[in-house]
Amino acid sequence: MKIKALNGFKDIMPDDVLLWRQVEESARIVLERFHFAEIRVPVLEKTELFSRSIGADTDIVEKEMYTFVDKQITMRPEATASLMRAYIEHNMHGRKPVQRLFTIGPMFRHERPQKGRLRQFHQLDVEVLGSASPRLDAELMSLGDCLFSELGVSTSLEINSLGCPDCRPEYRRVLLAFIEERLDQLCEDCRRRSQRNPLRVLDCKKQGCRIQVQDAPSVIDYLCENCSIHFTEVRRNLDLLEVDYTVNKFMVRGLDYYVRTTFEFVTDQLGAQSAVCAGGRYDGLIEMLGGPKVPGIGFAMGIERLVLLLKRLEDHGDQSAGIDVFIAGLGEEAADYSFKLMHGLRGIGLRVDMDLDTRSLKSQMKQADRSGAGYTVIVGSQELDNQQVVLRNMKTGEQTDVNVDAITDFFNETYGL
Ligand SMILES: [Zn+2]
Ligand SMILES: [Zn+2]
Repeated sequence: MKIKALNGFKDIMPDDVLLWRQVEESARIVLERFHFAEIRVPVLEKTELFSRSIGADTDIVEKEMYTFVDKQITMRPEATASLMRAYIEHNMHGRKPVQRLFTIGPMFRHERPQKGRLRQFHQLDVEVLGSASPRLDAELMSLGDCLFSELGVSTSLEINSLGCPDCRPEYRRVLLAFIEERLDQLCEDCRRRSQRNPLRVLDCKKQGCRIQVQDAPSVIDYLCENCSIHFTEVRRNLDLLEVDYTVNKFMVRGLDYYVRTTFEFVTDQLGAQSAVCAGGRYDGLIEMLGGPKVPGIGFAMGIERLVLLLKRLEDHGDQSAGIDVFIAGLGEEAADYSFKLMHGLRGIGLRVDMDLDTRSLKSQMKQADRSGAGYTVIVGSQELDNQQVVLRNMKTGEQTDVNVDAITDFFNETYGL
């Protein structure tokens, strides 16, 4: 019996890996421009880290975590909590007043695997700790904007403010009153959670609930003076950087430590409009996890979705890694020479391949074609006796005889090594 990969777990095949690298490398280039440093954190953490930071009454913690119950450890369902844990554990606030960190890696959630929803998925996670400046909020959004334009993906930015512990209680009361009037129209999850966290009802993805909350009061109308100034400043700074956005009053994060700015980049290039990046301010989180009172803001971007978008954008054709030179040999003597030549050319930095099983010349030329090589070196024993090999330019089809001693020099020159 053949063993297959688990449901929701996917191999990233060589054809796709190039797109993955394009996404990851673009991200690293843009992030370095913005003075971010990469951090790598483990995929396993104590369960408590996630239940405390993500919230015990969320879908993630209630239903979706891969937890080893007997050991009380969990595969990370997101990266923010792990980064906060590392930040606190390594006293990073003592080293620099503002830490700008990012990480890229797999996350694990036991969701129903739908189209594009995997149980092992990958995220770019970006966090800045140590500044409450509204400029930083705008800077992070401009970073997202830069990254999407670097990749050639068109998105639109939606922003909202969630207020703070000073002004949210009043908004909660008003929202709860609004929700209680419609309680029997809401889904079971919303009914259960509305008392503890009415904001989450605004966030419910079910169509029935969405219709019910269409006319719900907006948090923006209940912001305290400080939050109001902060939000105005975020928008002013976005205008300053000429980053386009719209205000979406339904965009919430239903957890207490999320404050003020929240934002999403959405796109309609994947069918229905969907978020490809979500972020926000979480000024109370680090303190709640036992760290210092330090403000923070961050966002996460789904790599799978970006790869999918890039695939849609271009007809990439065969994406397998091309090589510079293919060596086709005839006979054993030629094979020895070819094998050595391959090693030598790789040594000067070229990507080289040959047929180790010395199939027919016809087969080898076919492999050369498929390899995407710019040149094929054809080595025959007769030619070798004359110290000659044939050099075929795969684009033009032009063939020339070249002295064996001149081969390395030729490639050195051609590829500017
Ligand atoms: Zn406030
Ligand atoms: Zn609902």
